[in-house]
Amino acid sequence: MSAVRVGFRGQVTLDGPSGTGKSSVARAVAARLGAAYLDTGAMYRAATVAVLDAGVDPEDPAAVAAVVGRARIEVGTAADTELVQVDGVDVAARIRGAEVTRAVSAVSAVPAVRRQLVDQQRTLVAEADAVVVEGRDIGTVVLPGATLKVYLTAAPEARAERRAAQLGITDPREVRALAADLRRRDEYDSSRADSPLRPAADAVVVDSTDLSREGVVDRVVELATSAVGARS
Ligand code: C5P
Repeated sequence: MSAVRVGFRGQVTLDGPSGTGKSSVARAVAARLGAAYLDTGAMYRAATVAVLDAGVDPEDPAAVAAVVGRARIEVGTAADTELVQVDGVDVAARIRGAEVTRAVSAVSAVPAVRRQLVDQQRTLVAEADAVVVEGRDIGTVVLPGATLKVYLTAAPEARAERRAAQLGITDPREVRALAADLRRRDEYDSSRADSPLRPAADAVVVDSTDLSREGVVDRVVELATSAVGARS
């Protein structure tokens, strides 16, 4: 089942809230399809590093737009490596830290930031014959004509547990704090005016609450393969 499916051509979008296992599913699907992989969340996180390093308030949209407009944000598109740079400096580890996670939703709600990064995302996607792109607005805004659109969800408790396991957190108080942070980010991302988190009208909704990661990967690969068949 893990053999690369040679011959897949097209775009798979994977949107959904945090803690659904989206990133690891997206990387595994890209590897199985022999496709490139683009983590758009990493781009918004890198923009947030630039904002924090400039000492700008993430809640000040004009200042945020000015800083991000000057920053050179680069991400790799290989499924097996993580390349994330701001002005030539490697920030791959820093973007996963708590400080960035707290501020990223405010930065990504700024329309000028979204325009800049969406342009960059479309350019990167255009360079690949086959690509898996994960984010919040990929099916709705960035690539509305994608070959396959998947919206990945899971019950809130399952998402908090998964994220806790990933981070090695076992203290119930810390798990509750993590669940509250996931809720806060989801509310922020779903209620913003520009490109809110929601499934595209033609997205296939996959609920991963009771599925293993492999189960979700199999399902998405199957959907991608049949979407190509349906189009050819
Ligand atoms: O996917 P990840 O958790 O790394 O995304 C971090 C944040 O970046 C999200 O909470 C959201 O605010 C923002 N984001 C976005 N649009 C995307 C991807 C991420 O607004 N396409």
